[in-house]
Amino acid sequence: MKNLVGTSSSHATGAKAAKKVNFFKALRSLRASREKNENKNSLLRQWHGPLTDQLVLHPGDFGLGKVPAKFKPDATTRVVCGFCSTGCSLDVHLKDGKAVNLSPSANYPVNLGMACPKGWEALTPLGAADRGTTPLRRGADGQWQAATWDTAAKLFCDGFKDIVARHGPESIAFLSTGQICTEELALLGALFKFGMGGVHCDSNTRQCMATSHVAYKQSFGFDAPPFTYADFEESDVLVFIGSNICIAHPIMWQRVLRNKKNPRIIVVDPRRTETAMNATQHLALQPKSDLTLLYGIAHILIANGWIDRTFIERSTVDFETFSEFVRPFTPEKVAAETGLKVDDLLQVAETIHRGKAVSFWWTMGVNQGHESTRTAQAIINLALMTGNIGRPGTGANSITGQCNAMGSRLFANVTSLFGRDFRNAEHRSEISKLLDIPVEKIPAQNSWAYDQIVQGIADGKIKGLWVIATNSSHSWIDQENFNRLAEQLEFLVVQDLYPTTETAERAHLFLPAAGWGEKEGTLINSERRIGLVKNVSPAPGQALSDFSIFRLIARAWGCGEMFRDWSSPEAVFQILKKLSAGQPCDVTGIRDYKMIDDHGGIQWPFSSVQFSVSSFQTESAELKTESLKLETFRERRLFEDGRFFTPDGRAKFLFDLPRPLAEPVDAEYPFILLTGRGTSAQWHTNTRTGKSDVLRKLYPARPYVEIHPDDAARLEIRRNTGVALISRRSRVECMAFITTNVQRGQVFVPMHYGIANKLTRSDFDPHSRQPNYKYCAVRLEAVKK
Ligand code: SF4
Repeated sequence: MKNLVGTSSSHATGAKAAKKVNFFKALRSLRASREKNENKNSLLRQWHGPLTDQLVLHPGDFGLGKVPAKFKPDATTRVVCGFCSTGCSLDVHLKDGKAVNLSPSANYPVNLGMACPKGWEALTPLGAADRGTTPLRRGADGQWQAATWDTAAKLFCDGFKDIVARHGPESIAFLSTGQICTEELALLGALFKFGMGGVHCDSNTRQCMATSHVAYKQSFGFDAPPFTYADFEESDVLVFIGSNICIAHPIMWQRVLRNKKNPRIIVVDPRRTETAMNATQHLALQPKSDLTLLYGIAHILIANGWIDRTFIERSTVDFETFSEFVRPFTPEKVAAETGLKVDDLLQVAETIHRGKAVSFWWTMGVNQGHESTRTAQAIINLALMTGNIGRPGTGANSITGQCNAMGSRLFANVTSLFGRDFRNAEHRSEISKLLDIPVEKIPAQNSWAYDQIVQGIADGKIKGLWVIATNSSHSWIDQENFNRLAEQLEFLVVQDLYPTTETAERAHLFLPAAGWGEKEGTLINSERRIGLVKNVSPAPGQALSDFSIFRLIARAWGCGEMFRDWSSPEAVFQILKKLSAGQPCDVTGIRDYKMIDDHGGIQWPFSSVQFSVSSFQTESAELKTESLKLETFRERRLFEDGRFFTPDGRAKFLFDLPRPLAEPVDAEYPFILLTGRGTSAQWHTNTRTGKSDVLRKLYPARPYVEIHPDDAARLEIRRNTGVALISRRSRVECMAFITTNVQRGQVFVPMHYGIANKLTRSDFDPHSRQPNYKYCAVRLEAVKK
């Protein structure tokens, strides 16, 4: 019975199942037929998305071709991009005075009608849902509470004044950025040091350009990148050292591609980067053996007499000592220490020798090293000894990182007293007179560098910190250490576009700032070109420009009167002109913002003595008073006369023996961790680029590590599976990307993901105090999930 019932039941179940199958078959067929009909219909009618009249294209005017109605502008205006140091110009399309879209400016000497993905998406981060729209104070429950600007300014002043009263003026500090306008940086530096009585402050330019700053200053007598972008097109040999220009500075790379001389391109990089893939010779050296390599190349050039004696004798000092110094750096020794072949070294030296116009370019692969200043100077030495400087297509050329790193280096009043020395009484007196500020308000000591400020927190000396437009909790080296210390601060104020950054999440007070495109001011790009940022979009809610926030704080602090003349960004630009007079960065010849705008940006120097305003105002091809054509003004390089900014006008050969690494690999941590840029769609900590749907589609969402196939096989790590990276600081997990682009024993993690700096080690170049992000020891483990 049981069986029978069972059989009967099985039959019933079988029939039911058959019915079910038929039902699903019928359903699938019905769906397929409906979809077919819908597809047919969708040619005529679609139920979702924009309406037809929104899709119709109309003449956009302003040379924009056809655009949808909602993007049809009634005006356009040029604004220089606020991401990287290339300084491209973007034509912002305006409707009723507000930005609706943008496109790259065609007639701008930097980008010539091109922009990278970040530039195209520059307006998007302004509309992000998590913009800060009101000041926020941390409540007793740890949650944000909205506050008025009056309350926020009072909390700011009470908090910092209380700390100063208890611990002295050296107990407060700020960390700023190369992302805000020059005028804002100048006001911030003046407010903090002269108005608030603070001493210690630094900027995130310490993380990218401090090395170039110090290297140039020591070698040339001033922080002066000598090149203009036209040099990319005029070289017949381009040497890129630690620079993945293809993705880090894609528009500069486009300038290289426009070079009609079929140039030799030498790339020095441990990784087979996108730039290395396009090189005529790639030197995949061992990480941080670059200083040895550069000395080795100098050795070969000198040994073969491939040097420019005339230039050396006329324009440099200390060549003979340098020549003696590099004698032991024989090709055999250098090959052994760099992992390269002797023939490779000889080939590089010969290519440099044969080049008529050789340019040397470097960026973070050099700057972010443990002996970065001497490495940068080893590059400068090669340019000097071969006479490759001051001529078209030549130069020892540091490519800047952030859009206004150069503005920060010149005018932030952080490491130097507006280009002078805080410790020099005459300089303090000069600045006091120029700015009408009591001399006793100017500190007579230098500020601590970024790492010293962080150490100051650890030592209990820094109690209050103001972080402006930077995300230290993500970007600072040995990030977890920084975050532990940030928790110890009595008062942390973050001023930013978003209260959601890793740093803002730890703050006691948040000040909502306007972003690029919501304010005005100037930025200075890699080739020293001053460009204009304009207010083309209203800031959300109560957010204010950084400039206005600084003015508000000055009033609340009680030093507003000291800055009565610093009334607007353009008024500050006029003050900066005054401060620049007679300096290598003299810009007294620039009349006003309009002149910058009219002429596609203007490179410093541009002194009123050198270039008369009246001549420059003449737009005709022939300029009258100085018979200089406009082109001469548009693309200028330094040192054409072989004179440098040192007291005797000669550049210096500077050098030191290579130093050992602080954390070499060993049996426990056998892999070298390299970090760097991931894609052209990501910018630094991804605070802004992460807000764009378009940009997010252009890079992997999950953090990943590049591993050589042999290492992956040995450790049983498979493609796209989890892998743990472990350093002496932290353990993180990410996805495995197996590629021969990295060498055996090396791994690479893009800096944009928060995991990278959990692993990096606090280690600094002794001259520039720039962090060494490019080498620490890690081990790998497959994650068995
Ligand atoms: S290359 Fe730099 S400046 Fe140019 S559009 Fe891209 S991010 Fe902006």
